[in-house]
Amino acid sequence: MNKPLRTFISGGAGYIGSHCVKALGQAGHDILVYDNLSTGHEWALLYGRLVKGDLADANLLDATLKDFRPDAVIHFAASIQVEESTRKPLLYYRNNVINSVNLLEAMLKNNIHYIVYSSTAAVYGTPDKVPVDETMPLNPINPYGATKAMVERILADTAKVTKLHYMVLRYFNVAGADIDGELGQAYQDTTHLITRAIKTALGQSQQMVVYGTDYPTKDGTCIRDYVHVNDLAEAHVLALDYMLKNNQSDLLNCGYGHGFSVKEVIQKVKSVSGIDFKVVETGRRPADSPEIIAANEKIKKVIHWEPKHDDLDVIIKTAWEWEKKLQKSGKK
Ligand code: UDP
Repeated sequence: MNKPLRTFISGGAGYIGSHCVKALGQAGHDILVYDNLSTGHEWALLYGRLVKGDLADANLLDATLKDFRPDAVIHFAASIQVEESTRKPLLYYRNNVINSVNLLEAMLKNNIHYIVYSSTAAVYGTPDKVPVDETMPLNPINPYGATKAMVERILADTAKVTKLHYMVLRYFNVAGADIDGELGQAYQDTTHLITRAIKTALGQSQQMVVYGTDYPTKDGTCIRDYVHVNDLAEAHVLALDYMLKNNQSDLLNCGYGHGFSVKEVIQKVKSVSGIDFKVVETGRRPADSPEIIAANEKIKKVIHWEPKHDDLDVIIKTAWEWEKKLQKSGKK
């Protein structure tokens, strides 16, 4: 990077956001995090300053952008639980779609024309084939995925008629914790597989549930492409740099290109922790796809992403160490 960028980060106090703030901070960016702290934490910000605010608050958003005058925005803030989205669709449409429109309007009003957007593999739904590449049709099967696909469309439509440029990063299953042990996931009600398994190993739950063992996969459980959070954070630094240097928009899958089943992940958590916790098999969770794996040739080619932690062992060890630290510190 040639000169330090002023970067506005919505949702920067959350799990992925905070790792990205660290990566951007290390790359020399001047950072402002805008976060309502509904699931994020001020202690998770290792760089930059925080404005505690909600994207629904158009006045505060406008005033913050006017004052900070960022070169670019990274937009993480969203509701992200698939199962919850099936129960509370309007919450998801409001928080993820309407608030993204608020942010885009405020950006354009303040002449800010560059955004990196957090999307998800859930936009593909149940793909006809895996690995899934960026040209394959979007067919989300739950409200969460639908909100992300809608915002992708909103970005594309807006970019056609304004100076807006965007980089959409479609995250596969983000997991693990900061390789230096400074950060990690800290969300009490997490529904994510690896965190739940680790919390069970630590005795925070009595048992672990496997949702569905009758999928058309090698062991009957769902397969996901787990990506280490530090590698994902690095992709944001590269995407931002690429967009500003080349004045380009693009959308990129962010995954390793191979996957693990639910049973394999649980087994790995047992071996890393050395704890044989109780696992119960139940029926399928609503709106789950059997197998989602990224084709990642494009992200490697376009922004030269070179993942460093493509190893389930590293993902689970870093998450395990972090969760132990969190439990000891009493942080939630
Ligand atoms: N899963 C499970 N038990 C849990 C949490 C998740 O069996 O306690 C399964 C879930 O049904 C899915 C996979 O693990 O097949 C990954 O789920 P997660 O919520 O981590 O991520 P998603 O793929 O839904 O974004």
